[in-house]
Parts: sequence; C-alpha cells; structure tokens
Amino acid sequence: MSRLSFLPSPVFSGKRAVKKVPFVEIREGRIQGVVSSGSDIERVYVSFIELSTGHYSCSTNNNRPCGGLRGSPCKHICELVEEAVEEYGEESVLAILGAEPGATAMTHLMGLKGTQVKDNVAVIFSRFLDYLRLTALRAPQRFVPEMNWF
Ligand SMILES: [Zn+2]
Repeated sequence: MSRLSFLPSPVFSGKRAVKKVPFVEIREGRIQGVVSSGSDIERVYVSFIELSTGHYSCSTNNNRPCGGLRGSPCKHICELVEEAVEEYGEESVLAILGAEPGATAMTHLMGLKGTQVKDNVAVIFSRFLDYLRLTALRAPQRFVPEMNWF
C-alpha cells in the first residue's frame, strides 16, 4: 500500500465547518483529523479513513471506541470526508483517490467497503494540539507551512 504523504493546497472555499471538524488533513495515505462531538462540547473524536482501502477508525481523544461504528464508517468519518473536500477541493481529492469519473470522494471511499481497524490515533491528536498551540503565537508576516491546514 502506498503511504502517500503530501499537502495538497487548500482552496479556501470559506465553507469549512471548523467548529464541527476543527482539523482535517490528507496525510499518510489517509484523510484524518479531529471531529467535534455533536452532543458533548468537551468531547472530540479522532478519525481516519485510508484512501486506498477504505479502512477506517474512530475513537474519542481518550481512546474510547466510537459508538457510531456498527460495521460501517460513522458520521464523524463522513463529516471528515466532507470537510476534506471543502478544504482541498473535490477535484484534488478525487485525483488523489484515483476515483472513476462520476464518483464523489464520499461514494468512492464508501464503495471501497473498508473495515474498522485499530491504530494509534494519538499521533493525529497530538499533532492537532501542536498546531493549536501555534495559533496562540504571534504571527510572523510570512507564510507558515505548519499553518497550511488552518
Ligand atoms: Zn465516530
């Protein structure tokens, strides 16, 4: 499996739902990130879906499994995919996926029929926290690659 790691350019559509999905990135062959809980403001989910297999994972930041995973990706993973499309543009995401014409990123990924996998998502969450720390710093008057996702 390819472990593609690169940063496509965000398209700044102005439609990113940052409160719902504070962090989304395409990295390590996955769409991955942090999704707010719909019901509990204190809770977030750390989720990913693999681009080549459709395998997925979702758990809270305290490493509890997401109750929405019942043999298929939960709403957090769907929200993450939607936000990746907003962040990078459907065309870029489809190109990365190598999707058939007429597919959307969502139909392509769900069509892979991946299964739930266990993986350490702490690295995703700690990178998010690291980036959050940067938002509190005084901004230099130049491009900051680490803030590309925001
Ligand atoms: Zn979930």
